[in-house]
Amino acid sequence: MPGFEIFGEEEKKQILDVLDTGVLFRYEFGDQRNGVYKVKEFEEKYASYTGAGYAQAVTSGSTALKVALTALGVGPGDEVITQGFTFVATWEAILEVGAVPVFTEIDTTLNMDPADLRKKITDKTACIIPVHMLGSAARIEEIVQIANEANIPVLEDTAQAAGGHINGKYLGTFGHCGAFSFDSVKTMTTGEGGMIITDDESLWRRMSEYHDHGHDHAVNPGGRGGEGRSFIGFNYRMMELQGAIGLAQLAKLDSMIVAQKKNKNRLKESISAIGGVSFREQIDPAGDTATFLSFSFDDVDQRKKVGGILQENGAAAICWAENTWHFYKKWEHLLGAATQTSSGWPFVGPGGKKRIIYDTQALPVSAELLDRTLCYPISIRMSEAKLEEMEAAVGKAAA
Ligand SMILES: *Cc1c(COP(=O)(O)O)cnc(C)c1O
Repeated sequence: MPGFEIFGEEEKKQILDVLDTGVLFRYEFGDQRNGVYKVKEFEEKYASYTGAGYAQAVTSGSTALKVALTALGVGPGDEVITQGFTFVATWEAILEVGAVPVFTEIDTTLNMDPADLRKKITDKTACIIPVHMLGSAARIEEIVQIANEANIPVLEDTAQAAGGHINGKYLGTFGHCGAFSFDSVKTMTTGEGGMIITDDESLWRRMSEYHDHGHDHAVNPGGRGGEGRSFIGFNYRMMELQGAIGLAQLAKLDSMIVAQKKNKNRLKESISAIGGVSFREQIDPAGDTATFLSFSFDDVDQRKKVGGILQENGAAAICWAENTWHFYKKWEHLLGAATQTSSGWPFVGPGGKKRIIYDTQALPVSAELLDRTLCYPISIRMSEAKLEEMEAAVGKAAA
């Protein structure tokens, strides 16, 4: 799973380059920094790795989503459609910009169901955020086509899918932009950090300026103090140490995925011996990042039975339907409109009017599918002993 498993000399060397200059800020300090611009270099290498025209580094995957939504002009009065199976950050970012999240069902890809997306588009829909959950692609080409017909921008939540692709085209380059996370449990990590990629130069420029208090990055007369502003921004700047770590991790990304694929394929083979099992649908298996292995059964009873045997034998699997961070039905703070504001914002608008009400029963297809699905996180390093223990547990479930 995460890049922290292989943190090593390469990361240390990159960090030392920064410490040698003493410059932790991504801008300015030209005399002191000896030409070391790690965040800038990380952006350039990330853009070229994914084949995108531009990349903007930020402080996290959550702020990557927020910066992208802001630069796309999404705000109060708007609806943003995402899927009901994702990490809470996806819709927190929507609420952060003052818009309201609308949720679609997932299908056998465990990602956004395009048919349900069609049904949920309204004249208020300002953006669509498909999520490539668990490192594997959504039906992104269909989703982008539906969005194009309705003239709505697509922001891909690629937080969990760094390095993933479909027929060689990288996830995050199908929509208007793609938002990545480099938090501590993501495929590649900078501890905290994020990146947005896009081919649209003016969108990138708005993101770049917004994330830096609105500083005009087009015209720099010398010092930052002399830069103008065309709109109000905020601070989501990545620091040089994160950029340095990102460079070392990006160089290892392909090899991490190769190692995960090997472990995933081995487990998949043993799990396929369990009667009635089926695997998550992959749009392009070659482009899977192999961070997770998801497998489903005909009904919830069999899932519980198999899950119980795996757990008793030291190889417990995750059931996302029961996880409080990733599935709609379990987001009690969303469903309960829990906010810290006395006005009730963002769930309650000016004048005390409720803007939207969420209902636990709203996504029955997703609930049913996740209820009969189990999942193993896949690590880069899985010892022979660990794999054999898991295979033995699976063997008992198959018997
Ligand atoms: C991790 C994650 C995020 C947020 O990233 P952070 O860097 O932790 O803020 C957003 N969306 C998804 C799907 C994620 O898994």
